[in-house]
Amino acid sequence: MEHLTQANTRPIAILAYHQIAPAPRRGTPVRSLFLPGWRFALQLRALKLLGWRGLSIRDLEPYLAGRQSGKVFGITLDDGYLNTYERALPTLLELGFTATTFVVSAQIGGTNAWDHDQGAVPAPLMGVDHLRGWIAAGMEVGAHTRHHVHLCRCDAATARSEIEGSKRELEDSLGVPVRSFCYPYGEHRAEHAEMARRAGYVNATTTVSSRAHPGRDDPMRLPRISIELHTNLPVLVARVTTGIRRWEASRGTRVAGANPAQHPPLRFPEDSAWGQMADTVGDSRL
Ligand SMILES: [Zn+2]
Repeated sequence: MEHLTQANTRPIAILAYHQIAPAPRRGTPVRSLFLPGWRFALQLRALKLLGWRGLSIRDLEPYLAGRQSGKVFGITLDDGYLNTYERALPTLLELGFTATTFVVSAQIGGTNAWDHDQGAVPAPLMGVDHLRGWIAAGMEVGAHTRHHVHLCRCDAATARSEIEGSKRELEDSLGVPVRSFCYPYGEHRAEHAEMARRAGYVNATTTVSSRAHPGRDDPMRLPRISIELHTNLPVLVARVTTGIRRWEASRGTRVAGANPAQHPPLRFPEDSAWGQMADTVGDSRL
């Protein structure tokens, strides 16, 4: 590994957003994964005012590898919702930020069918033309399996086909290389990380809630910090710019502005070594 200085090992927050849209009424399943567009814009504008730059995972790679340093954080938007294109993209362009959306390749132009069993409101997903527009705007498309499966409930052949197939289908329909993968529900075991690596992905993201540590974390199991309806602005800023997640983890809770009732206890403190990580990791809502 190249020589890493203190500056280029600064931990990097990778934010995970879902639907950028007004929240449905209370009691609706997965309501916490909505964030109104004005709040998304407010969060990113605040970080920009503080001198931080939001980047797609692809653009973050040199920082994650410790080759570059700076006040940067990652922006990811899961599932490829149409509201990512309609509501998030204008803000990203306004601020000069980039982001990665993780697309379910067999549902391009479809809906979040995987959520329907939970009673979630059907939401339209980006079609090929939207995805091409997203890429033309400088953004990244990553893969999120073919059908948004629970990888840990799949046999090995199915898991491999979901991981490899989504890369192939996206590359065929969009004509660009797909470098980044995201485990649906964050759910994966070490063998899935290996499958993703062999499929040709350069990185893969999970739902382990922590900042990423350049030169230390496995690029195929990168942690992310989920930003949800109840995450208020000061908490968001603190999670990007400080090690507050570590402090929250040491207390076994989250700070004011978070709703602990909607969260399982934190399992992995920010400085946990991947070697100590449980074999199976996931969040059933994502
Ligand atoms: Zn997802």
